[in-house]
Amino acid sequence: MNINNLPKIELHCHLDGSLRVETVIELARKENIELESYDYDKVKKLLSVNENCRSLDEYLEKFDLPNKVLQSKDNLRRVAYELLEDAASENIKYIEVRFAPIFHVKNGLSLEEVIESVVCGIRDAEKKYEIKGNVIISCIRGLDLKHVFDSIEAGSNFIGQGVVAIDLAAEEREGFAHEYVEAMRLAKEKGFRITIHAGETGFGKNVRDSIVLLGAERIGHGVFIYNDKEAYNLVKENGITLEMCPKSNIDTKAVTNYKDHPIYNYYKDDIKINISTDNRMVSNINLNEETSNVIKTFDMSLDEYKEIYINSVSAAFCDNETKEELLKHL
Ligand SMILES: [Zn+2]
Repeated sequence: MNINNLPKIELHCHLDGSLRVETVIELARKENIELESYDYDKVKKLLSVNENCRSLDEYLEKFDLPNKVLQSKDNLRRVAYELLEDAASENIKYIEVRFAPIFHVKNGLSLEEVIESVVCGIRDAEKKYEIKGNVIISCIRGLDLKHVFDSIEAGSNFIGQGVVAIDLAAEEREGFAHEYVEAMRLAKEKGFRITIHAGETGFGKNVRDSIVLLGAERIGHGVFIYNDKEAYNLVKENGITLEMCPKSNIDTKAVTNYKDHPIYNYYKDDIKINISTDNRMVSNINLNEETSNVIKTFDMSLDEYKEIYINSVSAAFCDNETKEELLKHL
């Protein structure tokens, strides 16, 4: 099986975790951001984790520098374009790019301008490559609730025009969902689809809450549903797709290695899964490598891969016309 040639759908990819190292260096120079070194290997170390990364919190520190360089329209538009260019080269046919607008307003951009810049970058790439993309607006747990409502308001201007969904990301406390019930209700009312990072670092019950209290249609990661029977059944019975990113889970020590990752057991038990990278730069991986690691570790057949592709198309937040196009790539 030639894995590079397989068509792919990426549903879970953070823009600010997926920059090219050389672009970060160039933008840091352009924006007069002082780095200890501008050497490629040294900057790469600043931007990506190694096997010594101990937790999700430590993993998230890698986003500091990317967000420093992403404070202008041009820079945002450029990195969104480059991400789709990279994705197209991996034969990704559709990608949902997520980012938190609130991280990009430090130099005076409005939330709307931030979102518009990323959408423009995606459209630029769509014109040049055989790939389509949409935006998921991430809100950050641990920041104030006001930015969640502000991000929903700003993003709602782009629903149907590049923005498709809302997400809650970053640190995961047990029982976090209760705080966001009102915000997610509003988001849904405004036409956002809903995906939530949950069950990433140990709490299966958070997946249950995300579905029941927040209306999540997909779950980012959901690794730990195995320790909460109710969450497991809820995911399975409601056909909730888990956006799974094994390398990222290994990096954050949620699982020890590919073999121990539950992705294939879930798939075999009829739970819907998608294979994504989470953060190309931080986890030092692309979707060809991630797909290959999963297929080889579990000795998956081509038919099994096709089933995952078809499910990923059906779980995508794009319109039906796009879905029909995506199915033709098989
Ligand atoms: Zn994520």
